[in-house]
This record gives sequence, structure tokens and C-alpha cells, in this order.
Amino acid sequence: MAETYQYSLRFAIDPFNWNEERAKKLIKFCQEARIDNVVFFINPEELNQGHLTIDQVRTHWLPTVAKVSKRLAEMDITTSLNPWTTLMHSDRGQKVSPELGFGTMVDYRGQHAESIACPADPRWVEYIADIYGEYAKLQPKELWLEDDFRHYNHTPIKLACFCERHMKIYSEKLGRKVTRTEFVKKLLQPGEPTLERKIYLSVARVEMKKVARLIQKTVARISPTTRLGLMSSFPEWHAVEGRDWDGLFDSLSGTHLRVSRPHLPAYNEVSPLQYSRDFERYSRVTTELVGKNSDVYPELESYMYSPFVKSRMFTKLQLESTQMLGATGILLNLFDMMGNGIDETYGYAELLAESKDLMNLGTQHRLNLEQLDGVKVLVSQDASFNLQTTRGENPEELLPKEYSWLSLLGSLGVACKPEKWTNTSNFENEVLAVSGQFFNNLNDEQITALLKKMSCF
Ligand SMILES: [Zn+2]
Repeated sequence: MAETYQYSLRFAIDPFNWNEERAKKLIKFCQEARIDNVVFFINPEELNQGHLTIDQVRTHWLPTVAKVSKRLAEMDITTSLNPWTTLMHSDRGQKVSPELGFGTMVDYRGQHAESIACPADPRWVEYIADIYGEYAKLQPKELWLEDDFRHYNHTPIKLACFCERHMKIYSEKLGRKVTRTEFVKKLLQPGEPTLERKIYLSVARVEMKKVARLIQKTVARISPTTRLGLMSSFPEWHAVEGRDWDGLFDSLSGTHLRVSRPHLPAYNEVSPLQYSRDFERYSRVTTELVGKNSDVYPELESYMYSPFVKSRMFTKLQLESTQMLGATGILLNLFDMMGNGIDETYGYAELLAESKDLMNLGTQHRLNLEQLDGVKVLVSQDASFNLQTTRGENPEELLPKEYSWLSLLGSLGVACKPEKWTNTSNFENEVLAVSGQFFNNLNDEQITALLKKMSCF
């Protein structure tokens, strides 16, 4: 059977305001737009009630999804789930209910979150595995982890976690008791990276893999065919939480292919020029870091924007250009997330149907990212372990600046690709480009070997 490019409609269903008219409109849209898979949000955006209890999921959310899911299955349309919270994107005026009772994040300045969970609290770890087990009972095709599965950008707090539990972990690794202020100062200190920096990044790296593995085991026990997918955010910020991309995706995937969602650049309303630059530095870098054994489903995000981003031409551009990522499908976030359902006036069904054959053809001749020619722009997932800060005052100083060439070369039409640097990387007769503090990721022998063999920018 020919492979198809998977159209996944991300869809907000409000279990308290769902009716037959909305169900019929959804089914009609899926048929007309040639949708393959509906990804139902659980607890999204304006409908968010903080961390749900298993009882809330069992009583309200899953039964509503299950009903419409059966009708979609009759048309060979699969169901996936997108729970909108793991740690929580931001506080959103919510508090952790006493029934769940887990601790919350504290950032590097000592600011406490009200509802964003501390990823090292065993009560949260147990909760998140259990609730994913509950979602798995619906046997979704894909079950997603949102991009709130991270240590930073959880409004109103910044880089975390520096709660008492985490400070105890850092103190044990250091072999002496350390306060948050002392630890953060050393973490950000200018000059050679400190032991404190290494400890912070290593703890963050390991704890996410542990949680991912536990979720995978729980889900696999209940629904072995369900694939766990991970939504990623800005790659340079993932470096500041020490993300081990291979390790994290392996922990989450189990025996399945990796399932990844890079985001497309129109996450805010941007011009086409900005779109092309951001496509190179965000969407392509994330895809490179996740690697080749993956299904890549970029996210087209235009749920709350103006007619420019919602224009059918711009939507088509975003959709069809995903072939340059070797994408095997797309997550379509086209309608509001408050549960109003399909808005037929946007005219998306026709454009999606029209592009489907082209997208299927692209999937059958999927771009092999490893065979791309052009300038290789080297990036390292370990950059924040190795770079030097200048002032030592702000976690943003830990952001690697290794992707700049991609924006420039790509928008000038020069063939280029991001290339993940590892200790076994070996380049012969290729043009490489590096920027930022890339060479701090290498030892002297590696730098010498690289310079001897290459024509470098
Ligand atoms: Zn913590």
C-alpha cells in the first residue's frame, strides 16, 4: 500500500459543550479535507482546568472523545490524543489540587510557580504516568506529550527547577550543602563552565528521560500499538535544559519509530522572509536533532491569528513546504481551542483536499535529510554544557548561537543543512560553517583535525 502523508487535525472538544451539530461538522470537514487522523486536545488553552484528576479524565473527557471517535473510525479516520498539560505551560491562575498534592517549580530567582509541577517530585512522576495510562485506554494511534515538558518558559517563572527538593539533589551531587543563590551564581559564572553548571544540566537531562521511560512503559502495557510523540520547542532553549535528544526520544518511543513535532515558524504572525529564516533555524534544526528514524509531523499553528496567517495561500505554503523537512504528515491547528469546532468560512477543506495527492507523492519519495548537499552548519546538543557566559547574570547567556548561518544561507538560496555534531563526526571534503561558541564543544585535537580536513567558513 502506498504511504500517505498523514493529515492530523488538532481539535478542541469541550466535553461540557459538545453537541450533534458540532460532531456532524467535524465529520463533514474530515471527509472533505481528506483528514486521516483527529488529534483531540484534552484540557487545552481556554478550557484548561489545571492538572486534571484521573476521575475528571475518566468521567468527562474520554467518554466525549470516545463517542465521536467511533464514528470517525467507521470512515477509517484514526483518533489520537493531545493532553495539553504535562508540567503545565504556565500558571494560568490555577493551583495544584490537594488531591494531587505535588510540589511546584521554583525558578533561578526563587520565584514559585502555583501550578507548574516540579519534575523531580515522585508524586507528579507517578501521576503523569498514571494519567497517560488512562489516556492509553482509548487506544489512540498517537499519544502526545506537549512542549510544556521542559524546564523553562513557564510563565511567570523562568529557568527551573531550584525548589528545595532540587537544591537537595544538587547539594548531594556537589558533596556540600549549597543555597539556591550560590548555586545559580556558579551555574551562570563567566569563564570555564563550572561543576554546578554540569550538575544542573545533567540532572535536568536525566530526570526527563526517566519520566519519559516510565510513561512509555505504562502506555505500552495498556495499549502496545499506541505511539508516544513529543512536541518540541526552540532547540536552543532545549540546550539550556541539557536535552539529550536521542536518549529522550528513545526513552519515549519504546519499540516504535520516534514521533516528533517540530513547530513551523508562524507561531506568531511573521512575514514570509522571517518565516523562511525561522524555518531554517528552528524547524530544520529540531528535525535534525530528532534524527532519521522518525515520523516528522510539523505543526501548522494558526488558530487565533489574523486573516494574513489564516490566508489559504499562506496555509498552503506552510503545508507544502513541510516536504523540505522530510515530513510524513502534519498537525493542523486551524480552529479555535475553546471548543467551537469547525469554522467552514475559512475554506480550508478544499485546499487540504487539493494538496493531498502532492503530499502523498512527497511521502512516497521522502527527502532523505542525510543525503542533502550544501554547507553543513554544525550544531551540538551539549552546547550549554560547554559555552562561556560573559556577565553571568541571566540564563539567556547559556543559549547557543550555532544556527545563525542557516537563516542567512537558506534565505539567500545557498544549499545548507544543520548537522548534529557528535564525538564520532567525521567530515571529508565538505564545506562546514560554525558560529557562536561551537568550538567550545570540541577538544584541541578535534578542532585541529577538523580544520586540517575542511574548507571552513
Ligand atoms: Zn523542583
